[in-house]
Amino acid sequence: METSPERYVETFMAQLIARNPNEPEFHQAVREVAESLAPHIAASPVLQRMKILERIAEPERVVIFRVPWLNDRGEIEVNRGYRVQMNSAIGPYKGGIRFHASVNLSILKFLAFEQTFKNSLTTLPMGGGKGGSDFNPKGRSDNEVMKFCQSFMTELQRHIGQDTDVPAGDIGVGGREIGYLFGQYKRLRNEFTGTLTGKGRDWGGSPLRPEATGYGVCYFAEEMLAARGDKLAGKTVCISGSGNVAQYACEKATQLGAKVVTLSDSSGFVHDPEGIDAAKLEYVMELKNVFRGRIKEYADRYPQATYHPGERPWNVPCDVAMPCATQNELDGDNAQALVDHGCMCVVEGANMPSTPEAIRIFQQHKLLYAPGKAANAGGVATSGLEMCQNSMRLTWTPEEVDAKLHGIMRNIHAVCVQYGTQPDGYVNYVVGANIGGFMKVANAMLAQGCV
Ligand code: NDP
Repeated sequence: METSPERYVETFMAQLIARNPNEPEFHQAVREVAESLAPHIAASPVLQRMKILERIAEPERVVIFRVPWLNDRGEIEVNRGYRVQMNSAIGPYKGGIRFHASVNLSILKFLAFEQTFKNSLTTLPMGGGKGGSDFNPKGRSDNEVMKFCQSFMTELQRHIGQDTDVPAGDIGVGGREIGYLFGQYKRLRNEFTGTLTGKGRDWGGSPLRPEATGYGVCYFAEEMLAARGDKLAGKTVCISGSGNVAQYACEKATQLGAKVVTLSDSSGFVHDPEGIDAAKLEYVMELKNVFRGRIKEYADRYPQATYHPGERPWNVPCDVAMPCATQNELDGDNAQALVDHGCMCVVEGANMPSTPEAIRIFQQHKLLYAPGKAANAGGVATSGLEMCQNSMRLTWTPEEVDAKLHGIMRNIHAVCVQYGTQPDGYVNYVVGANIGGFMKVANAMLAQGCV
């Protein structure tokens, strides 16, 4: 490298931004990785010559398509569908599908980019991908969601397959949507394969896939705390979100002896100082998953809890914070509030929930801070285990899957420590995860030539 690592990053980012204008989330995700990798790339002429970082930041393929469908009033609605097939160096593309009004190419490219490193960290053979639509399932009938899913899959099925690209759920895509998507895939292709993960237990799904992301976040938190001679038991935990990841992070944290005091949705958060125990969580799961209600109803049901409309939970004092809602939901002010209130550990269940400023504050104050690509990898890891079971046409027990998930999370933690430990002993989990995830993908790309 003729210039310094800092200059290399700036030149690289200027080119990336010029090639991909108006994609701020994608720029943010790539910059973080480029900054972590620059010293490593500076020391490796072959990585520079083979343009590995330049190629990793360019999707192998992006598919954008029209999704027309009929609503319950018999009117035609038109949404836009996407699949970003980012990197297949170490396996078929793998990553979730997001249905949310905010979905655009920038968000899906950032998610697919992050997914490439996350999937590599799991040690399973999965490349990186992500997809979705600007369809908003909120307030839609089951019939409308089914019609939309069928139209979305009618086009998507041309581009995916068990050895090509294996989608799963994400925001707005849970068990119901995976069922409708799988049904249409099977009908059109006339094959019953493991092309989607997150399937129901009776039709090819893995035990523990719904739980896996949230459980994995807590297993990762346990590893981080253990490295400082501490544990989750007895800790107060703030969680944001109240969807799939938040629910199971809450369940496992409580099982491990912590007290979870907040949950949220895009309208506000609830604070229950007595803790959201198993019985209260059961209520939340029914509220969110069956009745598709709002988290504010929790405070009507449990009078000791308070509801804070339009706010995020990061001003509530806690030992451990688990952002489990969406990208950039925790900014510099929120990070400073967490630090001021004595928070010691931040573990990301969502993808890129902390802004760069928030991360800087966490690291400056030497908090234990784990980025989503390491801490929430349990979800895709268990999707990988679902693919394994589908290929073998066998199902493992929940105990077997849990043991494998736990082992994978421990291993990811060890990789982060291996690559991220600084001279003063502080573990920079961002650097650890980025280098650890990059190595395997880069080596595969070097071996496979200029493709
Ligand atoms: P869900 O759709 O089940 O839940 C999402 C939750 O986040 C809801 O409570 C939702 O509230 C809230 N939320 C969504 N958008 C916003 C927003 N703009 N502002 C505030 N709150 C918001 O999704 P998941 O739990 O599956 O996903 C949550 C995060 O975890 C995402 O970042 C996802 O990429 C990541 N993730 C998910 C994995 C999985 O296995 N599902 C795996 C790895 C990462 P509301 O109902 O009001 O929209």
